[in-house]
Amino acid sequence: MIEVNHLSKRFDALTVLQDINLRIHSQEIVVLLGPSGSGKSTLLRCLNGLEEPNSGSIRVDNILWDDSMNAPTKKKAIRELRNLTGMVFQSFNLFPHLTVLENVITAPVTVKNMPKEQAIELAESLLNKVGLAEKKHEYPSRLSGGQQQRVAIARALAMQPQIMLFDEPTSALDPELTGEVLSVMRQLADEGMTMIVVTHEMKFAQEVANRVIFMSEGVIQEEGAPEQFFVQPQTERARKFLRQMA
Ligand code: ADP
Ligand code: MG
Repeated sequence: MIEVNHLSKRFDALTVLQDINLRIHSQEIVVLLGPSGSGKSTLLRCLNGLEEPNSGSIRVDNILWDDSMNAPTKKKAIRELRNLTGMVFQSFNLFPHLTVLENVITAPVTVKNMPKEQAIELAESLLNKVGLAEKKHEYPSRLSGGQQQRVAIARALAMQPQIMLFDEPTSALDPELTGEVLSVMRQLADEGMTMIVVTHEMKFAQEVANRVIFMSEGVIQEEGAPEQFFVQPQTERARKFLRQMA
């Protein structure tokens, strides 16, 4: 489903991702862990086409971005990556001037030219799935953080992505609201969605992940099944990270 080869990303002189190689299978749930500043968000943003890598290649489904392509072909690939991958951010990023329903239908209607009736039908079923059908005419400011994040998940799903990318989706939430977002994510995982999740929720990682990838300083340091990673981390960096999380 996803294949990343020799991916590097720099911001000016700062190398943020260095020779990242990654394979993610359909329906796999990967939890991406690592200290702050290790490049987790930048990696997700590259997969989602929000950042353009400096070198390497990214393939998602049948869309390929490769640093040897010419500029217009790269640009087209970036656009297509964005449509193929759904992203959920720590800060929800809903459109404040649009209702919940309008937030969910905007991308399918404007980007995919989906007929409005069909987009509304899809949005209603997704809002139902995240437990917010009755809030469809509310504005985001009238919702709790947990509700806003569930709308953001429905909005990402409305583009019918091949893979969902979650970047610390519960980090901005009060603890009592975290559970409702994690339970929507668990449900998606159970339904067979392919997911990469950056999170500090170690219990979620242990219970839901098929694989844990640990990054630090822009490099994948180790990866493994959660039962292996959490019990017997291979690197000192990972052991230190887990001690700090405990
Ligand atoms: P993480 O999500 O693991 O905390 P990030 O991917 O956000 O890490 O950041 C990795 C590094 O890249 C950090 O040093 C950060 O300051 C830097 N960085 C991220 N985005 C930018 C940007 N747009 N411009 C310059 N530096 C950036
Ligand atoms: Mg981050």
